Amino acid sequence: MTIGQVAKKIKENYPNSDLDLLNLAYEFALKAHGNQKRKTGEPYIQHSLHTAFTLASIKADLNTVIAGILHDVPEDTDISLEEIKKNFGDDVAFLVEGITKLSKIKYRGVERYRESLRKMFLAMAQDLRVILIKFCDRLHNLRTLDALPKDKRIRIAKETMEIYAPIAGLLGVWKLKWQMEDICFKYLYPEEFKKLEYKYEIEKKAERNKYSQKVKKILEEHLKKEEMQFEIEDRFKHLYNIYNKMQRKDRKFDEIYDVFALRVIVNTIPECYKVLGIIHSIWRPKSDRIKDYIAVPKPNGYRSLHTTVFGPENKATEFQIRTQEMHDEAQYGIAAHWHYKAMTGDKAKLTQQPHWVKDILNILKANEGSKDDFISKVKVNVFKNRIFVFSPKGDVFDLPEDSTPIDFAYVVHTDIGHKATAALVNNKMAPLNQALKNGDLVEIITDKNRKSPNRAWLKFVKTHRAKEKINQATKTSKLEQLKKIIPGI
Ligand code: MN
Repeated sequence: MTIGQVAKKIKENYPNSDLDLLNLAYEFALKAHGNQKRKTGEPYIQHSLHTAFTLASIKADLNTVIAGILHDVPEDTDISLEEIKKNFGDDVAFLVEGITKLSKIKYRGVERYRESLRKMFLAMAQDLRVILIKFCDRLHNLRTLDALPKDKRIRIAKETMEIYAPIAGLLGVWKLKWQMEDICFKYLYPEEFKKLEYKYEIEKKAERNKYSQKVKKILEEHLKKEEMQFEIEDRFKHLYNIYNKMQRKDRKFDEIYDVFALRVIVNTIPECYKVLGIIHSIWRPKSDRIKDYIAVPKPNGYRSLHTTVFGPENKATEFQIRTQEMHDEAQYGIAAHWHYKAMTGDKAKLTQQPHWVKDILNILKANEGSKDDFISKVKVNVFKNRIFVFSPKGDVFDLPEDSTPIDFAYVVHTDIGHKATAALVNNKMAPLNQALKNGDLVEIITDKNRKSPNRAWLKFVKTHRAKEKINQATKTSKLEQLKKIIPGI
């Protein structure tokens, strides 16, 4: 990575940027980091440049990119924040300071988790750009995880999945969220990752390419008759996303995979509808799969037209139709939003926060001093439909909403599920079907002599995993019972 590549990326999105300051920041960081090397053996400046480049590609503004280059200077070198302020101004210094504060996490276990979550929210409440820099920093750290010892790799991957990825999703920075998740998936579930990667990347790739080329060609012929600019692209499916869907919906890889997905990008909203009409005139749509998220955007602001048609060879083929602006927003979220506002002359402040950030800030203020209550009081969208509960050892587990101690037990270990007899929630006895809340501390009491789980649990468990394990275990034990009655089966 070179500073030239970073500069080029910025120019693509902000053609009028003055790049002198960027070059100055590069020289400054280069000198400050001196001979420092990354664990990979690369010069340290490579990490700074990669962080800056990712920031530029999500359309972050010049000051944010500059702060990206400088983000590790006060932490890892002798140069002070004051000097950064003198050379690059208050705004850049403020961002660098924010990042430096974020990286100082003192605790371990549950406290570490709470502390880093709290710090992320605090940073967000001050300026969302700090979080964007942190995401890009983390992404490059993830890409170079192989250079670290195994326990550190796992810790960083877990922390990313638990804290960074959900927040990236909340801010709509999907592109970074997916990239982070796919890397973490590889480290946290190596076997599942390999299997999916093989299926998706090797086994089916040729078939997928051939089919999408065919669809593209047909659609292109029709669109060329109209006077409009368009772009058709293949949609890459994220492995972790496929994995998640398989888990959640209890479906096989092929059922999820076998939907081909393409995206059409045009200039205007009327053209989106025109393309939809053209697609429907070529292929028969699945009537229940037409979604107009332009007229009625999703609650998170997502806009696009979706349709699934019976394409060539009668294969289910999914289309997303959107403008470039919608496309950028769908990938870069809040960052794209600022970009468009800046480009249209709207003086939206880059520090503008979504309303929930203010809500969190209020919760933080109200809870000053009593930090223990923080997580349970933060009822934000980040954790919508998910809750985080803790084991007595301080491990964090992420579960669907309304999960019960039995769901928790099965996530910790199959055997703990099978042998569960009672639960302590926040050190108090609780029924096994109690709905758990964010931040609960759950302890499962087991009975070593217990042979199998209780089938009645199936009535209240929420997770697929618990259902499956209970079913499996009770099936075998029925078989064993039968064996006792009819020897020799
Ligand atoms: Mn860094």
